[in-house]
Amino acid sequence: MTQTTDTPMVELRGVKKRFGDLEVLKGIDLRVDRGRIISIIGPSGSGKSTLLRSINNLEVIDEGQILLDGVQVNRPDLKGLAFERHINHIRQNMGMVFQHFNLFPHMSTLDNVTLAPRKLKGMETKDARALGMELLERVGLADKAEAYPSSLSGGQKQRVAIARALAMRPKVMLFDEATSALDPELVEEVNQVMKGLAEEHMTMLIVTHEMAFARDVSDWAMFMDGGVVVEADTPERLFSNPEQERTRHFLRKHL
Ligand code: ADP
Ligand code: MG
Repeated sequence: MTQTTDTPMVELRGVKKRFGDLEVLKGIDLRVDRGRIISIIGPSGSGKSTLLRSINNLEVIDEGQILLDGVQVNRPDLKGLAFERHINHIRQNMGMVFQHFNLFPHMSTLDNVTLAPRKLKGMETKDARALGMELLERVGLADKAEAYPSSLSGGQKQRVAIARALAMRPKVMLFDEATSALDPELVEEVNQVMKGLAEEHMTMLIVTHEMAFARDVSDWAMFMDGGVVVEADTPERLFSNPEQERTRHFLRKHL
């Protein structure tokens, strides 16, 4: 399928998700154009992680539609192997970085980065190594290619996790509190890598607790509470002059 440049990179239409009786996403609409960076803020339990996880189908939504570059991600009509094939293809276009890095401990950083392109794309070892070195270079860790994760700092591990997510050349990067588990002095080196991606116009959805970073890096900011989007606006307006009392209340506590 060929997409025009005005096809949104990510689109959510009326997305609902329940866990048992608890409705965690209550009809989310969202449009992220290519090259745009949206930050998602909100209190703990507001549904931010569920939203990101729904986008790559780690959570199966109950209602609505999710589209990646015009292709529907959730496909209740597809079953079994047909759905597996579909979702594996979709996931190759999305890189996700979590709070905890989940690197493979028994593999060097370079092998962590090259695993997916070798296994999923059948990339030759030589080409995969070249790609892996390019990505480690980009996150400032070329000198750690042969190191094992246990010898790296938290900030370095998270930068490897970002390089690994980039290795499939995704169309979109999803970040779920990528710096929340880091010691404060290690946050900046990870933020710098994310800013570098922003400058290269990677489309990104960033869930973060860091208001200053969100304001600085994003084109659009969204405040969620109780499974709804309370307010979405330019970061300048959302952080300086929010319209909703719930947003003001949250920002008073977190700025
Ligand atoms: P946030 O990331 O904004 O902190 P989450 O998306 O993690 O919020 O969680 C939203 C709500 O959904 C919370 O009430 C949480 O307890 C609940 N929840 C998340 N995952 C599950 C699950 N797998 N089973 C049951 N409840 C869940
Ligand atoms: Mg969360």
